[in-house]
Amino acid sequence: MSVDACPGIGQRAVGAYLGLAVGDALGATVEFLTPREIRERYGVHRDICGGGWLRLKPGQVTDDTQMSLALGDAILNSRGVDAGAVAESFSDWMRGKPVDIGNTVRRGLVSYRSSGKAVVPESEYDAGNGACMRCLPIALAYWRQPEEKLCTASRLQCHVTHNNAVSDAGTETVLRMVVAALTGRPKESLQQLADELAHRHAVFRYMERRVENPGGWIVETLQAVFQAVFSNHGFESILVDVVNRGGDADTTGAIAGMLAGAYCGPDAIPDRWLEVLDDDTRKACRKQALDLISLAGQLVH
Ligand code: MN
Ligand code: MN
Repeated sequence: MSVDACPGIGQRAVGAYLGLAVGDALGATVEFLTPREIRERYGVHRDICGGGWLRLKPGQVTDDTQMSLALGDAILNSRGVDAGAVAESFSDWMRGKPVDIGNTVRRGLVSYRSSGKAVVPESEYDAGNGACMRCLPIALAYWRQPEEKLCTASRLQCHVTHNNAVSDAGTETVLRMVVAALTGRPKESLQQLADELAHRHAVFRYMERRVENPGGWIVETLQAVFQAVFSNHGFESILVDVVNRGGDADTTGAIAGMLAGAYCGPDAIPDRWLEVLDDDTRKACRKQALDLISLAGQLVH
């Protein structure tokens, strides 16, 4: 597709946010199943039907989408990333008894409530995907900024719960890839960014073996996402591939969904998925995507 035929950045931002939410809702049904269990129960899992270990309603999303919205709200209120405001927004979200919450996230927020510090100590064990899964609002607000500013903002939000160099590196690459997609760069540019990550941190090398049943480790999560994004054409094929690998499928779905949605635009998302997506979530994602893109010219942090 030529650059002229691409939807504008606002539409790509909407595509990224709706992509994140439908990926989360689609993947949540098969979270923690193996590919074999998925085949036995669903054949190929390709419809947003709820259920799963969380017993979701069809179209209901999980922490991946909800924490993204909480981060985006904090960014809009502070006109940029203020770590204290982000921690407060996450803490409010946790108070609402979310349908699920990761252990590292819970530990970080409990520590924020008792210490008032919006940064956890550096830890080699905090290389989960919990900071990366919620990173989209950073890309939407900071896409016009120099890379150092994008990365500084990313680390502030990540370190509220996950202070780890591997999580930071993976998240910053996802952000750069989203920004590249938002600005209409071709898929090869996205792949170049993934390859640079694998070059700097060999642990991320993603072409050696097919990742199935990816766990919550950021490395396995991104390997599965990169394989699905780069070996399929079109939003639906990418998402169906990644969630049918099972494991942390709502999160691989969410991250693949934000990348593919930014790249393909919202019209590429199947109507049958958008129609079943929870109404309030769909409206919130669409509105926040546009609000964050408008904020991008007027950041104060
Ligand atoms: Mn989740
Ligand atoms: Mn998950």
